[in-house]
Amino acid sequence: MIPHLDLKRTNAPYQAEIAEAMQRVAASGWYVLGKEVETFEQKWAAYCGVSHCIGVANGLNALELILKAYEFPEGSEVIIPANTYIASILSVTTLGLKPIWVEPDLRTFNIDPKKIERKITPRTKAIMVVHLYGKCCDMKPIWDIAQRHGLKVIEDAAQAHGATYNGLKAGNLSDAAAFSFYPTKNLGAFGDAGAITTNDAELARKLMSLRNYGSTIKYYNDHIGTNSRLDELQAAILNVKIKYLDAENERRRTLARFYLSEIKHPHLALPSAKTLYDDAWHLFVVRHPKREQFIDYLMDNGIQATVHYPVPPHKQKAYAEYNHLQLPISEQIHNEVISLPLNPSMTDDEAAYIVQTINQSVSLPHATVGYHSSL
Ligand SMILES: *Cc1c(COP(=O)(O)O)cnc(C)c1O
Repeated sequence: MIPHLDLKRTNAPYQAEIAEAMQRVAASGWYVLGKEVETFEQKWAAYCGVSHCIGVANGLNALELILKAYEFPEGSEVIIPANTYIASILSVTTLGLKPIWVEPDLRTFNIDPKKIERKITPRTKAIMVVHLYGKCCDMKPIWDIAQRHGLKVIEDAAQAHGATYNGLKAGNLSDAAAFSFYPTKNLGAFGDAGAITTNDAELARKLMSLRNYGSTIKYYNDHIGTNSRLDELQAAILNVKIKYLDAENERRRTLARFYLSEIKHPHLALPSAKTLYDDAWHLFVVRHPKREQFIDYLMDNGIQATVHYPVPPHKQKAYAEYNHLQLPISEQIHNEVISLPLNPSMTDDEAAYIVQTINQSVSLPHATVGYHSSL
């Protein structure tokens, strides 16, 4: 079986170095917000090309803290892509803000900038973009809209470590960006971890305080903060793994280029390759009109494909108040997407076998069901 992702295999090359780093933390006697966290914050800011990085407990908290720091009045509206992982939406609703759903572009899976402006009202305060599957959003038109209407731009960059847009890294494309270092992400810790990047010094100071009970000087609280601290063990692991992120992303790009040039299947819509070099290829997502049959076929042939994500946020039981919304492009995406295995530890042979298995399926009856791609 070729697994979708095998973290044991992906992390194996760094085991010795990581064990040493963990030992160093264990022996230090300092476990939360210390030297390792500071070092990582400096490294991640430099990597993203921004002036500030604030380590936090996870990606969801990173998004929530950004929204909290801006102190938008309750009921303010945040423009957000309708197809995203639930965390993006949760950050908005948890803060008492209103998500304003915007349809994506079917080819990029990212928010369609052309559909943003008509959704803006006097209550709109921010646009939250999500660089889904590792591809940066088309930022130029979004910056223009934000400037015209005086809106903040916030990135959910949880899937886009190292992705670039016009030479700028994800995390440096907005007023403030949220990262997750959940183990499966392109840069993954051995537990939960997250960070915020920004070029806004004042915002950074406030976030440093908010993540630690709203306190800068111990036992003196300037803000109503929370506990969202990054621990030394996770930071030490990230300090090791950050060195290999570019090489891992390059391997992902090589595999993606191979899939894009070799997969030949009339009913499979491949991801857009327009900005191939820049993508972080967190996931390689294709669309098939008979998704379940196609996944079963791959499974029968020893390939574990998965779905990111089967249900769009506005159709989730948790968001009953939004279930009536009609967002046909998002719904189509959620019905058709399949994530093929693509990760840095995959071998050339595995990738070749996956391509061969997919191309062979063209001659099978289930794969030839009439399909007119709307691309
Ligand atoms: C993983 C992820 C998050 C949340 O990160 P956590 O660390 O799990 O809280 C947010 N948004 C997107 C798009 C993600 O993929």
